Amino acid sequence: MTDDLLEDAIVRFEEALPHAALSEDARERLTRPASSLKVSIPVRMDDGSLETFAGYRVRYDDTRGPAKGGIRYHPDVTAAEVTTLAFWMTFKTALMDLPFGGGKGGVAVDPKRLSPAELERLSRGYISAIADVIGPDVDVPAPDVATNALVMGWMAHEFAKIRRGHRPAVITGKPLALGGIPGRSSATSDGAFHVIRTVQPRVLGDVAHPSAAIQGFGNAGAQLAARLADAGWRVVAVSDSSAAIHDADGLDVAALTAHKSDTGALSDAPVGEEIASGELLGLEVDALIPAALEGAINRDNARGVRARVAFEVANGPVTAAADRILDEAGVQVVPDILVNAGGVTVSWFEWIANRTGDRWSAGEVARRLEERMVTETEAVVGIADGRSLPLRTAAYVHAIERLSRSMDATGTAALFADGEG
Ligand code: NAD
Repeated sequence: MTDDLLEDAIVRFEEALPHAALSEDARERLTRPASSLKVSIPVRMDDGSLETFAGYRVRYDDTRGPAKGGIRYHPDVTAAEVTTLAFWMTFKTALMDLPFGGGKGGVAVDPKRLSPAELERLSRGYISAIADVIGPDVDVPAPDVATNALVMGWMAHEFAKIRRGHRPAVITGKPLALGGIPGRSSATSDGAFHVIRTVQPRVLGDVAHPSAAIQGFGNAGAQLAARLADAGWRVVAVSDSSAAIHDADGLDVAALTAHKSDTGALSDAPVGEEIASGELLGLEVDALIPAALEGAINRDNARGVRARVAFEVANGPVTAAADRILDEAGVQVVPDILVNAGGVTVSWFEWIANRTGDRWSAGEVARRLEERMVTETEAVVGIADGRSLPLRTAAYVHAIERLSRSMDATGTAALFADGEG
């Protein structure tokens, strides 16, 4: 169950305001999206019938650069959810000091119900419907839940047809063969790994082989599980929408990844034992890693969390009410806008490469991602220590101050302050 999503997001912003240097103008501008589009996408189904899907694209703020944010396919997608995700992207891109604002898109659809051909027609139809509001200088989509490089490739190709010319920088997360960049599909988990490694001594001390439970065994969660296992962590539980698998001694992540890739689901896994999916959140582990959807840890289940720290790989997995409960219980939370920012950071590299016609090597991507993740994680920790704030508030303060400086530099407030208006 999610507590109210947009309200929740604004609570976090407001909690940070007393600690941040923010102009009145910036505060006013950050309270609502710059633009919000709802479209209907008629799709010819394989049986000849016509079905119409609701699609959304929200540009929350673009003061610091083109709006940036993924496209989600999920039956529960709503205008409020997409707006909230775009709001979070605004702070995430500022936190990472990227030349982007925040946007997000989505289609209310259960993609598992569609054939590959129907999915392609839906993806092309969506891009055609939002083509007027996206572009390399305006708003740059990317993958999110249930969309991937294949879908981005269809969309980039459709946009090129509409514009009658190549515009690869309109979308990131494309296949390598269509102007994608090495390392994009693992960027979110790689970035999360760098954040975890950087804050580990602070949040977990010197535990030799920390244990982790990971909710969500998709693009981000499964690859992070593999990286943590390689680094000597014990991944004791993972789950997807089909099942939760547990082994207190540590799961064979490679076997689970192979099983999921063969069967499409974790259920009937060859290793570990199945537990109820809610049980995973209450396991006694060093780190709980929600990597599925928003609202996973909420006022109803937060009291059952027995981890020492939660790393938010998903966007918004801990609600504001749950945050307070975890704080009282001494569970630290490392926030989404920092932990999962690796994806949009490598999207930035892809956008640069597309605009310059350049190619980046996998090594260059990995090196620059690590450098950026470590720099901004240390900056957030510095604010948390210097101003005695929880890491989430510190991350918001860091982002808000950057946004405020950019908004103020657009000049009109200064004009009035100088009395020349
Ligand atoms: P994905 O679709 O690849 O994976 C999502 C996983 O969550 C799937 O395995 C699904 O079965 C599982 N899931 C759904 N409901 C569940 C439930 N109730 N319990 C357990 N598992 C459940 O999506 P993804 O790209 O890995 O994204 C996951 C989260 O990370 C989302 O919040 C997304 O916004 C965020 N994120 C993703 C990226 C990216 O680059 N992929 C970047 C930043 C943030």
